[in-house]
Amino acid sequence: MDISVVVPLYNEAESLPELHAWLKRVMEENRFSYEIIFVNDGSTDTSWQVIEQLARANSEVKGIKFRRNYGKSPALFCGFHRAEGDVVITMDADLQDSPDEIPELRRMIVEDGYDLVSGYKQKRYDPLSKTIPTKLFNATARRVSGIKNLHDFNCGLKAYRRDVVKNIEVYGEMHRYIPYLAKEAGFCKIGEKVVHHQARKYGKTKFGLDRFVNGYLDLLSLWFLSRFGLKPMHVFGLLGTLMFLIGFVAVLVVGFGKLYAMYNGMPYRLVTDSPYFFIALTMMILGTQLFVAGFLGELISRNSNLRNNYQIEKEL
Ligand code: UDP
Ligand code: MG
Repeated sequence: MDISVVVPLYNEAESLPELHAWLKRVMEENRFSYEIIFVNDGSTDTSWQVIEQLARANSEVKGIKFRRNYGKSPALFCGFHRAEGDVVITMDADLQDSPDEIPELRRMIVEDGYDLVSGYKQKRYDPLSKTIPTKLFNATARRVSGIKNLHDFNCGLKAYRRDVVKNIEVYGEMHRYIPYLAKEAGFCKIGEKVVHHQARKYGKTKFGLDRFVNGYLDLLSLWFLSRFGLKPMHVFGLLGTLMFLIGFVAVLVVGFGKLYAMYNGMPYRLVTDSPYFFIALTMMILGTQLFVAGFLGELISRNSNLRNNYQIEKEL
């Protein structure tokens, strides 16, 4: 099969028939063999009935129905699991992404050899309250992930070589960072294509401003995991040692300072009167705690079933 289209959706009943008809037209014009996997993320409207109707009339339509709303990432995860096409396309169900981009996206994967091609909504039809934070967000994501050529990490329209979606695990709200996940899994040829974007036609957006707070926290987590996920002691141990050293030096200053003064008949004070005493106390406690965190991290990662989960591309 040439293409699997994975569409996560939550309460998008009005858009679905239009989206399906448009996808079908594009696929037939280009003579692609394809499937469309609608992942109904616990919609409370009639989305699932619409999907059932579409599936009855069209053999290429497949559906997954969650019992409750889990979020876009879990929906993508299950869609990826089911996808059989050589190229997997993800797109939003709200008609903001255009199916007309699919042939070119596929060409970039098949002919230009990209592992992942992300859409870039250069001209967006979203409110300013969304576009400005998005710019900042993307700049940070570029820095942290080291994928310098992407302008729009969170674009719903993306194309993947099948290997990519079968070897990454999207979870939580990590759909914003799929290119980063792909890069961490060793799929480095990541490209971008400017895509046409439209204002939402039906329904309303499912994500509020909290997306930016959560987005940054997720980016921090990913950064940490990608660097220290398998060796937590390397970060906690280093920080712990630094703290402990500072504390230790402070102890020496306090202790020897007082002894020196005592034996030389100079006036001296209680150690608790010295600021170094408190620095020493705090730093040594913090240092020890960081070490304990490091050991706990090592215990957890040693027992994790991901500890020896490597991406082996080929074997002879
Ligand atoms: N979506 C989903 N589960 C959710 C929230 C959203 O499957 O919990 C889907 C939604 O139906 C749409 C896509 O994710 O197809 C993108 O959502 P939306 O258009 O609201 O995001 P925006 O375009 O505002 O970034
Ligand atoms: Mg949208």
